[in-house]
Amino acid sequence: MTDFEGLVAVVTGGASGIGLATANLLASRGATAVALDLNPDVKDPLAGIRADVSDDESVKAAIDEVVERFGRLDVVVNNAGIGAQGDVTANDDAQWSKVLDVNVLGMVRVSRAALPHLRNSPAAAIVNTCSIAAWAGLPQRALYSASKGAVYSLTLAMAADHVREGIRVNAVAPGTADTPWVGRLLDSAPDPAAERAALEARQPHGRLVSADEVAGAIAYLASPLSGSTAGTVLAVDGGMHGL
Ligand code: NAD
Repeated sequence: MTDFEGLVAVVTGGASGIGLATANLLASRGATAVALDLNPDVKDPLAGIRADVSDDESVKAAIDEVVERFGRLDVVVNNAGIGAQGDVTANDDAQWSKVLDVNVLGMVRVSRAALPHLRNSPAAAIVNTCSIAAWAGLPQRALYSASKGAVYSLTLAMAADHVREGIRVNAVAPGTADTPWVGRLLDSAPDPAAERAALEARQPHGRLVSADEVAGAIAYLASPLSGSTAGTVLAVDGGMHGL
């Protein structure tokens, strides 16, 4: 029997990058994996449902649809997120509200809608996608870092609240991962190839983290292999956060 046989998993932001790699890995290990995304264009065996994590009604409708179509919900991967650049003066209040709304409140909305269903699962797990930006003190990432700092604290608080009812909550904290998001950032540089080489050289292990490596950590935290792990934020960053 594979790790997720018979279980249903939702992955927000599951149509791209880390979310897509995670949904594919969970499906390959036996789960019915559902991508909840603004653009839920995914291939078999994944299912896609449109959801905007910044809209409570959209989230509730998507979770209801998952349970209606697939009969249960066992694993939630809160992964949808957006970026922001610059120091604390770079973004106005509306931009701060938007990023915190998607990156933090988005996880709250999905968890709120999912928890009643997770309580019926013998293998319930929530995994949040944090970032080493939560605590590494990265330059020109004030808003993004603050949002992921909130995800870090939210993960620990949710773990304490729900572990006694059999729902484990953990997070992964990727370093710079090779996803369409980072690809878009590199493509906006005057010389994308040189920018990529410089970015790789800044990583302790000399390359970007792969989406599959982050997916592997998420799958571990979502699986019975980590059955005694709760409130852990697992860095997947080649050791960057410790430098
Ligand atoms: P990505 O842009 O490739 O994928 C993000 C997905 O989220 C997209 O499919 C997008 O449509 C979806 N999405 C965005 N806003 C949404 C919303 N409001 N509702 C539903 N879906 C929405 O990005 P990625 O690099 O795979 O990042 C995924 C997560 O990993 C994010 O939370 C990001 O902060 C985190 N992360 C990424 C890196 C990195 O270097 N790529 C590093 C650390 C953390």
